Amino acid sequence: MVPKLLIDALVEAKRVAALTGAGISAESGIPTFRGQGGLWEGYSVEKVATPEGFEKDPAMVWRFYDERRVNISKAKPNRAHEVLALMENFYDMWVITQNIDGLHSRAGSNNVIELHGNIWRVKCTECGISYYNYEVPLREIPPRCKRCSGLLRPDVVWFGEPVYDMDKAYSIAESCDVMFVIGTSAQVYPAAYIPRVAWSHGAKVVEINPEETPVSSYADFIFREPATKAMDEIYKELLKVFQEE
Ligand SMILES: [Zn+2]
Repeated sequence: MVPKLLIDALVEAKRVAALTGAGISAESGIPTFRGQGGLWEGYSVEKVATPEGFEKDPAMVWRFYDERRVNISKAKPNRAHEVLALMENFYDMWVITQNIDGLHSRAGSNNVIELHGNIWRVKCTECGISYYNYEVPLREIPPRCKRCSGLLRPDVVWFGEPVYDMDKAYSIAESCDVMFVIGTSAQVYPAAYIPRVAWSHGAKVVEINPEETPVSSYADFIFREPATKAMDEIYKELLKVFQEE
């Protein structure tokens, strides 16, 4: 059941935002970011997701990312990604994501803020250029910069590095009317502040997560459901209202 008060808020809304995390991509078959015991698909997080680990063994880090790129290339955006993209038809719509898989863009979302970068982008450690590279699997490991032949790294944010576009994310949070928080435990700062900022500026906060999170304590609406189911239900109700008008 979609609460009528939520539909009312969505009918009034002009700017809508969504903060998404690993939970939304898990439904596309992409394993969540961290496994058990500090291991990530069998790799130590310190070795593959820190600047120090990369400095020590770039080839090993690249083998790990190459494997993930192969897996992600086989995954498809799901209904939750699609609904967020379709909402651009009704709203000044923004997706702020902690995911690096690029599935929001593939689903058709145009306004995507990727706080943790994008696994399909590479960044040169010498000249600093950043560009998309969709080669799977990579022909050369570690890959080299097409401009200066310098060592490339994945253009993703590692532990100890600042997230991207935080100012933009905050300004969206401060000015949106409704914020969905989907499939993220919102425990990692600074991203965890985003829904709190939205809420304190008067936005309705909608949590979609099978599990309780810190957001649950102040969210205006909570769906304890998979993202695909909840977003599909909400979108159907919304369509009914908009098509009646
Ligand atoms: Zn370069």
